[in-house]
Amino acid sequence: MSYDAIIVGAGHNGLAAAVHLAAKGWKVAVIEGNAEPGGAAKTREVTLPGFRHDLCAMNLSMFAGSAFFAAYKNELTAAGLGFVPAADCFASVFRDNTHLGVSTDLEKTTGAIADISPQDAAAWRAMLSDFGADAPHIFGLLGAPMPSVAAAKVVWKAWRAKGTGWLYETARMLFASPRDFLDARFQNAKLKTMMAAWGLHLDFAPDVAGGALFPYLESMANQAFGMVIGKGGADTIVKAMVGVLEAKGGELMLGMRVDKIITASGKATGVLLADGRRYEAKRAVIANVHPQILFGKLLNQDASRQEFDRRIARFRAGPGTMMIHLALSGLPDWTAGKELKTFAYVHIAPDMEMMSRVYAEAMGGLLPAEPALVVGQPTAIDPSRAPDGQHVLWVQVRVLPAEFSRDAAGEINGRDWDEVKDAYAERVLDIIERYAPGLRGKILGRSVFSPADLERENPNLIGGDNLSGSHHLDQNFLFRPVAGYSRYKTPVGSLYMCGASTWPGAGTGAGSGFLLGKMLAK
Ligand SMILES: Cc1cc2nc3c(=O)[nH]c(=O)nc-3n(C[C@H](O)[C@H](O)[C@H](O)COP(=O)(O)OP(=O)(O)OC[C@H]3O[C@@H](n4cnc5c(N)ncnc54)[C@H](O)[C@@H]3O)c2cc1C
Repeated sequence: MSYDAIIVGAGHNGLAAAVHLAAKGWKVAVIEGNAEPGGAAKTREVTLPGFRHDLCAMNLSMFAGSAFFAAYKNELTAAGLGFVPAADCFASVFRDNTHLGVSTDLEKTTGAIADISPQDAAAWRAMLSDFGADAPHIFGLLGAPMPSVAAAKVVWKAWRAKGTGWLYETARMLFASPRDFLDARFQNAKLKTMMAAWGLHLDFAPDVAGGALFPYLESMANQAFGMVIGKGGADTIVKAMVGVLEAKGGELMLGMRVDKIITASGKATGVLLADGRRYEAKRAVIANVHPQILFGKLLNQDASRQEFDRRIARFRAGPGTMMIHLALSGLPDWTAGKELKTFAYVHIAPDMEMMSRVYAEAMGGLLPAEPALVVGQPTAIDPSRAPDGQHVLWVQVRVLPAEFSRDAAGEINGRDWDEVKDAYAERVLDIIERYAPGLRGKILGRSVFSPADLERENPNLIGGDNLSGSHHLDQNFLFRPVAGYSRYKTPVGSLYMCGASTWPGAGTGAGSGFLLGKMLAK
């Protein structure tokens, strides 16, 4: 069979590229190794029937705010895409059993901040007011190919509108660590802790340079726009993209792992499956595949690519993650306040010291004694995901080593994740119990995905790295995945890469897939 473009991998980026190319009249096929599309955006009944769990991504705000969604909103909505907004977006609990959270109601957020620091409440309002004017420039930059004339134009427009001083301050923020950025703007440790927790969704401990941006953007964007999750599950975006793709004549093939990219005279011309089947691509092969798999396994070695391959081999993974999915008879009873039951995310990362410690332990190859937890309560916002009155809990455990030498607490013995995952999950449940006693008594079913399980589920998550590559400054912007190749081209003609390992990185913003699609067909 012959196509204009073959997309390897039905992650949401591969699907975004496919939808756009199909809309431009290309004959496209998406070939996915798993039985289900979606990659790290999937929903499945992994505990009990009737309990729908987002296996990986739960927060779809990036997709809802994406250029791809803006371009295909009507078709995606007609194909069934639905979002459910959360008014109470995220909160942190602290060791003294208090909490602080961000709700779309500004009075509610600032009222809670004012209780601990009136000055910080004023600083929050001032930051939000600046964000209104700054956001178009910042999001414009994050949504432009890197580097590009479009990105330069965003900077130029920002300079015209805001002046040189603003550009310097924004550049400083891009380079700053979460702690330095927050210390310069706020006084109260709880507020700073609540914001800094977002750094650990990526791989930014409080003192890692380049980590300020995400805590700033998530805090302000949640305040200004709120958070959304998928109606019925995160897979709403994937089902809708597949619907739009097929309506445009595109094909999705499932359960077919690509074994090799076929090349001729330095160009990619198609793909070969493990069972020997071949598919020809006349214009492009697009790999929604981690570059180390693409260049290390799917392509034959080539002496002319030696230097490039060496650089790709050095592309660093971020730390791993673990997912614990619970079916519950009721939401956790948070000691810090029953109002926490309405929040989409409750962060259990109660101070900066533990955030620094968990990162140091994970990077040093130890099982962290006290990991940071993102406790997602999707059924507080979308009850359709569980039987009446019952709930699912989505627990993301940050940050973990892919391989480890020992347990930092000296309690868990084992050599790899298959051996320790149940014991480690118990540690996580103990931590939640500290803040929400009685949780264990509500558990009807559980399913644990260790970092190794996540990689088995999706080979792009090497070592359970939920980012498909560290987001530190030397691997971000025009350095993602390696300098000179941040615009999706590769040294092989007609072979392109997209996905979380490429600019603008991880998350459900469909950025790389859509940017690449538009580069290939305006
Ligand atoms: C646990 C976890 C929680 C997360 N939470 C959030 C969140 O709440 N919000 C958010 O915005 N982001 C979140 N993220 C990040 C986000 O989900 C990912 O960055 C994003 O979904 C990656 O999409 P992608 O298009 O790069 O491809 P992927 O999702 O990695 O999909 C790639 C697909 O390619 C397939 N594939 C790979 N190799 C081959 C091959 N040889 N042949 C055929 N198919 C192949 C894979 O099977 C997979 O289906 C989370 C990630 C994880 C892991």
